[in-house]
Amino acid sequence: MNIHKRLFVLGLLSFSTTGLIAGHLAAEPQRPPLERLPIDDQLPIDKLPVDKLPVEPAIESVTEQADEGSHESGGMEKPHWGYAEGAGGPENWGMLNEDFAACSVGQEQSPINLTGAVDSELAQLSLAYQPTPLKILNNGHTVQVNYEPGSVLTLDGETFELLQFHFHTPSEHTVEGEAIAMEVHLVHQNPVTKALAVVGVFMKEGLENPEIAAIWPSMPTSKADEKTVADQMVDVANLLPTDTDSFYRYYGSLTTPPCSEVVNWIVMKEPIEVSRSQIDQFAAAIDEMNARPVQPLHRRFLLD
Ligand SMILES: [Zn+2]
Repeated sequence: MNIHKRLFVLGLLSFSTTGLIAGHLAAEPQRPPLERLPIDDQLPIDKLPVDKLPVEPAIESVTEQADEGSHESGGMEKPHWGYAEGAGGPENWGMLNEDFAACSVGQEQSPINLTGAVDSELAQLSLAYQPTPLKILNNGHTVQVNYEPGSVLTLDGETFELLQFHFHTPSEHTVEGEAIAMEVHLVHQNPVTKALAVVGVFMKEGLENPEIAAIWPSMPTSKADEKTVADQMVDVANLLPTDTDSFYRYYGSLTTPPCSEVVNWIVMKEPIEVSRSQIDQFAAAIDEMNARPVQPLHRRFLLD
């Protein structure tokens, strides 16, 4: 039982929700640094210093081949992971590779159904984003825009740097059991502790979204490495809802293998809008859908 779990149990004993969460989150900086964690499998995961890895099965032996199934070790090759039902589907991610075990056995997995939130004191969240040159890629699982340094999220005094944002359809989180048309994930990392903070914003079907309209013409329609689009800037601030003070908050995981449980999740309550045509264009670029089914809450609390 690591300190993270001990604090969680102590919190339960205290029957103090705010104390529980404070202890839960306060434990994060005490973890060993998480060097070069894969983030929704879209970051390079080279040069993992084994001696600095945290003692978590999901991330202690991540390799560059984590997405490649087995290595043809004299037999059947395991399938690549994906979203369709079947051998490579979400129900089997944890069995595809020993590094993916958390996908099956983890107790703090994402996404979740957002319901029954516990009222809590509002976390101090500030978002300070700058425009960045458009660098876009399609990794076969999602379409991702990489961000240059200088845009930050501050959560209760802890600063996280925006690394990238990417999209899902339908939404991964659900609200009272209902999925929304799309969800964008803004992935941030604390450069010191390597802890992650991901902001989820729902995108409901409605009016055409001007920022998406600027990005989609450059979207690779099949798997493609990062390309820089000349003379085009993108500003993720334009993908935020008007009200960024109302959000759900919980502790969870990456929603793609290796499903590492290292994410402070912040999911905005107010959706932004995206047109049917824009949804369809994205779906065509990622083989129709890319949402992991919701996971059990287990012993966690959802706060709002
Ligand atoms: Zn995501």
